[in-house]
Amino acid sequence: MLIAIDGPAGAGKGTVARTIANALQFRHVDTGAMYRAVAWLARHRGVDLADSAAVVDVARDASFELSTRVVVDGHDVTGDIRTPEMDAAAAIVARHGDVRQMLVQRQREMGRAGRVVMEGRDIGTVVFPDAPVKIYLDATPEERARRRALDPAHAAGKQGASPDQVGQIAQALAARDQSDRTRAVSPLTRADDAVYIDTTGVPIATVVETVLTLARQRLALQ
Ligand code: C5P
Repeated sequence: MLIAIDGPAGAGKGTVARTIANALQFRHVDTGAMYRAVAWLARHRGVDLADSAAVVDVARDASFELSTRVVVDGHDVTGDIRTPEMDAAAAIVARHGDVRQMLVQRQREMGRAGRVVMEGRDIGTVVFPDAPVKIYLDATPEERARRRALDPAHAAGKQGASPDQVGQIAQALAARDQSDRTRAVSPLTRADDAVYIDTTGVPIATVVETVLTLARQRLALQ
């Protein structure tokens, strides 16, 4: 009873995962928030993000609360982890294999109870390669940048971004895509058995319906 949703930033993973988790009464786990929270905590403690051993120490003892708020070690970081600085910082800590190993272990524990929708970059390939439902959401870089610029959960979307800012967001997304797709450990890639959905120009409600129908069929739910 695990639904794995992967894909690049701005493909619609968050909205789709949250909405189908609500509809099916499953738990929603946003693994990107865990990488972001580790990066935030490392910065907060003055740890060099490039120092893999030091970041592992931060991740090892961190407590995560992942609900409507994101709380790490008692700090409510819900808004603070979704800034351009933290986008880049999360992608840096995500390159460290030891950090990934530690977070993947936590994610497997969270998924073990079942009835979970887990979103990220490596859920269908590494965290739960046997997940009965695997979705890979994608969209063109332009569309993803536009969506990010309108997303109120992210710093840029709060005030409504200018065309210049959309250009900057597109550049930052391209850099993060490149980092996520080319890293040595668990690069972002579509699992062979994942259902690929191009969400470019598709209303999010339609994407949600497609994923829900598929999940209900595969999991034999009503
Ligand atoms: O999904 P989100 O954009 O919040 O993820 C932030 C960063 O965390 C990604 O750019 C990626 O580097 C990393 N990440 C990852 N594996 C995951 C989830 C996120 O490497 N499962």
